[in-house]
Amino acid sequence: MPQFERRSTYFAASRPYHPLAMSHDSVQQIGLLFFEALFLSVLLLAFFRVRNRFGLAPLCVTLGAFQHLQTTLAAALYLEIFPGIYVSPGSTVLFTATLVMTLLVYIRDDAAEARSLIVGIVAANVTLSIVALLVNLHLSSPLLVLMQDVSGQFLVQNLWSLLIGTCLLCADVILVIVLYEFFYRLLPRALFARIALSIVCVVTIDTTLFVSISFYDSPDFSKILLAGVLGKTAFGVFYAFIVSAYLRLFPVPNLALPDDAGEGRKVFHILTYRQRYELLKDELMREPMTGLFNRKFFNDNLPRELRRAQRLEHQLNVLLLDLDNFKQINDRYGHQAGDDVILLMAQAMQESFRAADIPCRYGGEEFAVILPDATTDSATIAARRLREKLSDLCHAADLPLPAGIVTFTAGIASYPADADSPDELVRIADQRLYAGKRAGRDRVISADAMPASSMSPA
Ligand code: GH3
Ligand code: MG
Ligand code: MG
Repeated sequence: MPQFERRSTYFAASRPYHPLAMSHDSVQQIGLLFFEALFLSVLLLAFFRVRNRFGLAPLCVTLGAFQHLQTTLAAALYLEIFPGIYVSPGSTVLFTATLVMTLLVYIRDDAAEARSLIVGIVAANVTLSIVALLVNLHLSSPLLVLMQDVSGQFLVQNLWSLLIGTCLLCADVILVIVLYEFFYRLLPRALFARIALSIVCVVTIDTTLFVSISFYDSPDFSKILLAGVLGKTAFGVFYAFIVSAYLRLFPVPNLALPDDAGEGRKVFHILTYRQRYELLKDELMREPMTGLFNRKFFNDNLPRELRRAQRLEHQLNVLLLDLDNFKQINDRYGHQAGDDVILLMAQAMQESFRAADIPCRYGGEEFAVILPDATTDSATIAARRLREKLSDLCHAADLPLPAGIVTFTAGIASYPADADSPDELVRIADQRLYAGKRAGRDRVISADAMPASSMSPA
């Protein structure tokens, strides 16, 4: 364990304290630490980049060695960056690099690769600890000839630090992945924030635990804790920035390859486990022709959204839509024209509703939208916006159809005004939709508009 008092004395004895000289040295040393981090980032990312050729071994072996070096440095070498604030180059630069690189392997490759990396690091360090323990036995031999000044105490101390450090690291790299998954749900679009937050949480927990165990009786406890958390946070954020820049700079190529793509190209298009999972999950909830959510997704989500609305005492609306006289469009202008209209309707839906709304293809030329936290009025306005959008898109698409022929009728049911169960909401919206059809089509029917006037003059 570092003995801070002794080191302070050493510094004070070896160099007279001068505030300006100190700050110059601090800047120099902080600069050097960041240079080390930058150098390591480039090297480790290069190892990661060539994994298709050499596998993950270069990265794994390097990170395994880091753990040993980091533990040795943490026991032996600290920098007094500011008076009384000690920073360990091992913990700040090497430890955070290991965390971020493991996370990168998980994000870009898969859980199995990340697991094998963690097991590799742990295996190397447990073996190293046992070998160090055995080598330590030589120290008590009368035959021992020491070529350098290696104290037995140092080896033993190092051994326990190595074991504790390895166990903590194992817990940390698992925790960083769990936290990343947690933040992924909260911040699906903010890659850098996701990585940085996961790292900062882990280093804060790790440092608090480590310092509490190791320095609980030290008068410098709070300074050591603060320096540890600040140092590792700064480098964690630095690495998070570099790794997220790497992930953006080298995105996984789009996998929508044509069927006739050569085998060679397909080989380099291997999806990671995580991406495959996300794509499959996405495919399962979408209807393939339009890309809108499918009926199953609607059926699964309506009860969930309704429960949420009940809990938060929000309103919720269900909108059912059906294209008017669609059979006629097919019969007169061809099936392709009908398909084009369905695609334009899907596009109009994607562009007309809020991000929180859930537009679905309910089947054939029928569509449904869940509008959480929306009043009946705003649902009616959204339906009208959709009508205008659809009309604009049809006009711009230059379809072989007479102007104004593409219309829809919609029925709206509201929670809590109309019903408080998913089935009832759908039944009432459907009833209103057909009331709208009977009343002449091209209209929106809600409780407030029974039977509604046409959305536009015929
Ligand atoms: P209404 O105004 O009463 O809804 O009349 P409609 O003609 O739209 O009603 P109906 O339900 O009788 O016809 C729907 C038609 O939509 C029948 C079906 O062939 C067609 N359809 C369903 N899915 C597709 C599709 O994906 N593409 C095309 N082109 N037509 C489809
Ligand atoms: Mg229909
Ligand atoms: Mg129809």
